[in-house]
Amino acid sequence: RTATPLPLEVRGVTVRFAGLTALDDVSFTVAPGSVHALIGPNGAGKSTCFNVLSGLYRPTAGAVRLGETDLTRLAPHKIAALGVARTFQNIVTTEGTVADNLMLGRHALSRAGYLASALHLPRAAREQREHLRRVHEIAELTGLAPHIDTPVAVLSYGDRKRVEFARALCLEPRVLLLDEPVAGMNAAERARTAEVVRDVRESLGLSVLLVEHDMGLVMRLADEVTVLDFGRAIAHGTPEEVRRDPEVLRAYLGT
Ligand code: ADP
Ligand code: MG
Repeated sequence: RTATPLPLEVRGVTVRFAGLTALDDVSFTVAPGSVHALIGPNGAGKSTCFNVLSGLYRPTAGAVRLGETDLTRLAPHKIAALGVARTFQNIVTTEGTVADNLMLGRHALSRAGYLASALHLPRAAREQREHLRRVHEIAELTGLAPHIDTPVAVLSYGDRKRVEFARALCLEPRVLLLDEPVAGMNAAERARTAEVVRDVRESLGLSVLLVEHDMGLVMRLADEVTVLDFGRAIAHGTPEEVRRDPEVLRAYLGT
């Protein structure tokens, strides 16, 4: 069931808004099965990059490829269907149980399946059981199993962030884009989230692109780091390499 890992390539991506270059000829590759972190000061272009990758913004120039497939001009739902799933920095989920929310992630896999299941066709019933089975597996994997029938509205902030994460996993992605997955979490929740990211990377073989301000987490989780500053990729390397890079120190310390 695990999707074949494919490299996600960002090639010469430029995004201009009126009078402002948010991304300037940015290139990097998320290697199959790796955790790649995208870091940089506020306004560096990290969210803009996520919005390009998930099809919300069209770049002014450049391309995004998943393996051989050009994603650059595809609609967000097509990109998700090809295996690039994202979470948002801010929680949007307030309704239904954990299971309901994860089922939404499954139904995003196929609209036809959703309509068919609404009509109670036999094949749809079979698919529905398969979706439920997978939802329970993913709840197990993400530590949500004890809360599977709990309304998300009563969960802790950390657990709700975990629901967003699990819902993205329900799309069976090849690449998972995580936008500040531990923002607002306490130390224990952060550590658990880091463990879950490591687990799913290993058990599902997917790649992760991580935007995160918690440098401790980035240093522990990432195989590779790309540093953005004023829309430019100013450094690439292992966490150790970028930490010692004078350009990176300058960008962060403003010296
Ligand atoms: P980061 O996520 O690294 O903090 P962003 O990608 O959000 O940075 O923003 C990069 C730059 O692009 C900022 O100067 C921001 O104000 C600008 N920007 C982002 N989105 C838009 C938009 N939709 N319209 C105009 N400017 C934008
Ligand atoms: Mg941002």
